[in-house]
Amino acid sequence: MVFSIDIMMALIIITVILGVSADAMDIVGSKMEDYSYGNSLERIAQAGADMLVKTPGNPENWEKFPDVNGVTPGLSDLEINKKTHSNVISMVKIKRLEENYDKLINGNVIPSHCKSTLVIYPVDQSLEPINVKDIGENDSSSEVFVENRTVLCNYLNTTEMVFINARDQSLLSSQNQFGDECPHGEGTGSQSHEKVDYKNREAGWVCYPLRVTDGMLNSTDFYLITDPASIEDPVAMWMIDRPENRTEYTQLFQNKPILLNGMIEGIMGNNSTAVLWLHVYSSGNPDKAFNTHLAAFPKGTPPENVKVQYLTPQPCYFVFKVWV
Ligand SMILES: [Zn+2]
Repeated sequence: MVFSIDIMMALIIITVILGVSADAMDIVGSKMEDYSYGNSLERIAQAGADMLVKTPGNPENWEKFPDVNGVTPGLSDLEINKKTHSNVISMVKIKRLEENYDKLINGNVIPSHCKSTLVIYPVDQSLEPINVKDIGENDSSSEVFVENRTVLCNYLNTTEMVFINARDQSLLSSQNQFGDECPHGEGTGSQSHEKVDYKNREAGWVCYPLRVTDGMLNSTDFYLITDPASIEDPVAMWMIDRPENRTEYTQLFQNKPILLNGMIEGIMGNNSTAVLWLHVYSSGNPDKAFNTHLAAFPKGTPPENVKVQYLTPQPCYFVFKVWV
């Protein structure tokens, strides 16, 4: 009997210890589950942001497809990145993602049981943020992971048609090698477009062709912009014409962007496509050199957004939130 009581006591103690340990194990176990759960949600947010920012999507030109079924989205802008080896995200892809957010994101970029928002804030605060997906946050969700990346984005979807870089004359001479011969080149005497010579401070021309279609004319505001906006060169002037219809009519710069659509329409006449020439005359004084851009902005861009700095991709914050 005595022996059995001892055994019983031992059993009770062992049971108690086991019970306590089991509780402790449960607590540890559930903590571990929380940890790995949180960790995996974080991983989901990171992997999703990586996929959107670093890949072009599959297929790579999915933004051109009318139907996004079967598309895995990515925002990387292949055309710009091939040229510049940078990591720019595409405004056209962002707009397509905005139109089809749930369909493209859920089950592709993050698991379907997760929810997310995506907002892109230009660092330049005079530009409006893009709410690709912005919904009221769920207060009951205990964990929200936010991935904040800095990306470059051609925010205003601009295209540079002609860039005359006269402030860096070493680039100007290499640019000239690619240009075709100006249609005023064969002319005789004073009407011929002699090239400007900054080295010898001799006044002259820089001339570039650009192809314009009537489709572009309908969807685009073409602007002539100088950098700096206010130029000091007293003889600076410009003209636009066509080889088939040359002009000698030059104009002064206006110290602000000049809208060219009316003029281009007139030069194109009834042609649906034409090669125009931009000719810029300057004094050859390197201290007064200015850059000239002929740029395409989307139709109806507010005049205050027609700026040289918007011709290059803008830094933006890419803020991707994920929760369950
Ligand atoms: Zn010319």
